[in-house]
Amino acid sequence: MMRVQTREHECWHCSARTGLALVCVNCEAPQPLPPGADLFAVLGLARRLVLDPDDLERRYHDASRAVHPDRHQTAGERDRTLSLSASAAVNRAYRTLRDPVARGRYWLELHGTPLGERNNQVPPALAELVFETQEQLAELRDASDPAAARRGVQAAHNDLSERLQALETELEQRYAAWDAAGEADTPDALADLKRRLSDIAYLRTLLDDVEEALDAVHERGKGD
Ligand SMILES: [Zn+2]
Repeated sequence: MMRVQTREHECWHCSARTGLALVCVNCEAPQPLPPGADLFAVLGLARRLVLDPDDLERRYHDASRAVHPDRHQTAGERDRTLSLSASAAVNRAYRTLRDPVARGRYWLELHGTPLGERNNQVPPALAELVFETQEQLAELRDASDPAAARRGVQAAHNDLSERLQALETELEQRYAAWDAAGEADTPDALADLKRRLSDIAYLRTLLDDVEEALDAVHERGKGD
C-alpha cells in the first residue's frame, strides 16, 4: 500500500521546510511531489471517501494558482519542469476526486484492488432492467412501428437514468457510513464498493448504447 512520507521535506531551492506543500512557503519554488503521494495528498486532503465539494474546489483553485506554469516562466529550468508536473498532478487529483464514481475507482486502485476492464456479466440485481432494455432496443432495430419502438426505448432510457441516479446516491450514502465507522478500507467494504462500481459501470455503458440507438433513429428520421 502506498504511504505518504511524513518526514519534513526541505525546499530544493532555499532549504526551508516545505512539509508536503506543492510550492515552498518561503521562496515559492514548486516542489517535487513526495514519493508515494496520492491524489488526496496532492490537494492536502486526508484519505476519505466523503469530500466536501466546495472545499475541494477551493483547494483545487489555490493549488492550480500556486503551481501554474505562467507563474514560474521567468524562473529556472527546474522550476518550470516541476511546475508542469505539479500542475498535471493537481488537475488529475481534481478530476478524479470531484466525481464520486471516479473517486471510488481510485480508492480501489489505492487499495490494490482495481475495478479492471469492463465485465460483460449482467449484474444479477439489474438483470430485469437490462433484459427489458435489450428487448426495447431489438424492437427498435426491426420495428414495424418505429414511433412506438422509439417511445419504448425512450422509456427504457428514463428507467436506466433513474436507476443509475439511485445507485450513485446509495454509493455516496455508503461512503458516509464507511467513513463514519472507520471501515472504508476493510475487505468487506472494498468488495462491496467494487460490486457497486461495477453495477454503475454496467448501467452507464448500457445507457450509452441506448443513447446511441436513439440518436441513430433521430438521424434516420431526418433523412425521410
Ligand atoms: Zn524555498
